[in-house]
Amino acid sequence: MIVLKVNNEIFYDDALVLVKMFYPRHEVLMYGKENKSGEEEEFTIEPWIPETEGKEKKQYHEEFKSRLYEDLVKKTGQNLPWGYLTGVRPSKIAYQMLDEGAEDSEILDEFVKKHKASTDKANLALNVAKHERKLLTAKDYSSGYSLYIGIPFCPTTCLYCSFTSYSILGYKNQVDDYLTALIKEMRATYEIMKGQRLDTIYFGGGTPTTLESAQLDRLLTALEETFARDGLEGIELTVEAGRPDSITREKLEVLRKHQVQRISINPQTMNQKTLDLIGRHHTVEQIKESFYTARELGFENINMDIILGLPDEGFKEVTKTLDDIRQMAPESLTMHSLAIKRAAGLNIWRDRFKNLSLENDDATVKLCEKTAADLGLEPYYMYRQKNMTGNFENVGYAKPGFECMYNILIMEEIQTIVALGAGAATKRVWNNGRIERATNVKDVKMYLAETDEMIRRKQELFQM
Ligand code: SF4
Repeated sequence: MIVLKVNNEIFYDDALVLVKMFYPRHEVLMYGKENKSGEEEEFTIEPWIPETEGKEKKQYHEEFKSRLYEDLVKKTGQNLPWGYLTGVRPSKIAYQMLDEGAEDSEILDEFVKKHKASTDKANLALNVAKHERKLLTAKDYSSGYSLYIGIPFCPTTCLYCSFTSYSILGYKNQVDDYLTALIKEMRATYEIMKGQRLDTIYFGGGTPTTLESAQLDRLLTALEETFARDGLEGIELTVEAGRPDSITREKLEVLRKHQVQRISINPQTMNQKTLDLIGRHHTVEQIKESFYTARELGFENINMDIILGLPDEGFKEVTKTLDDIRQMAPESLTMHSLAIKRAAGLNIWRDRFKNLSLENDDATVKLCEKTAADLGLEPYYMYRQKNMTGNFENVGYAKPGFECMYNILIMEEIQTIVALGAGAATKRVWNNGRIERATNVKDVKMYLAETDEMIRRKQELFQM
């Protein structure tokens, strides 16, 4: 237990996030609050920022974070890769500076000198921003929109999962009704967005390939009939196949038939022991089989997701994962650093897993970067989450020309994304940067009962 004493409550959130980055497994208590945890108090951190008249709020927060960061570095002897940057999108800083005409050296200084980030991370943010800028300026994306379709079912629940995901076994009898509701929402969305250009479509979840092949066919046929009556030419179409235990040749054939260009087949790790531990009930062989079947059927743009910092995995295990991925040679690789969210089993049952290591380090991240580079993949989008092991980042790498625009658009918030299905959140983005949201209920039964209300929320959002 760490007790935090700050001189102004406006700094509580800053302090909490930063202290958690140094002490991910500790409880942090604000000074003056009652300690109900039963844990002993280890020490008190007490950064103090003098109040200065006329100082801008942002500057005041920066100064506080910088001071607290220095205190924590002294106390722990540890530096963080991103310094005291706590934001979700560090590349946005580089992007904005590029827009304002800043030189590379000024941008790198902003990260290294001001925010105390490492030179490697400063270069990563700059490279990602340049890559994004090149892609985003090729077309006026702000005048189009994207469509997200959520299938909230998975074969089993992964230990680290915090998404809207229900076991397909328990919901088998409701999947057809779910598709009926989804198609209704899809058709209403077409009417709402009529006349606007659709740029990308992304099927996520959950795991869309938990649907049976006939169900997938029904959904994709409805999509074509509604949004792409003249075919999907010019529209990026991605399906997150995700879990190899949900993929079959027949389902992949359905995806091919409907012109799905990009799929994800996500190993997360190529170590069987870890797959078993994290609740992914499939084998390493199944991952390879799914990948090579997809290749055989003609998929030329396959992404693979991996997670660094999985329970009891270190450099050796990640080396094995990356060696296998090197052999398969996907067009994109998405590297995640494990983030333990409150709703994840790994957090809920943390006592059960307290003896497992959850580590990620610079050497492992560098190995991943090297593998991506050896495969000819370049970093093109990135984001950070709270409570990430090692305080690293998630990075999407892709072969030039194989990037997923949807991933950039959702990250950079420059385009409206209309989201359908249980738990999906629509984000309307105006040209002046204003953003308004309409969220769907998460519970499948409620979604079925309230589909009209989900549609009404969208109508209201787009009537503004
Ligand atoms: S595959 Fe993804 S959405 Fe499904 S349980 Fe695992 S982490 Fe959650």
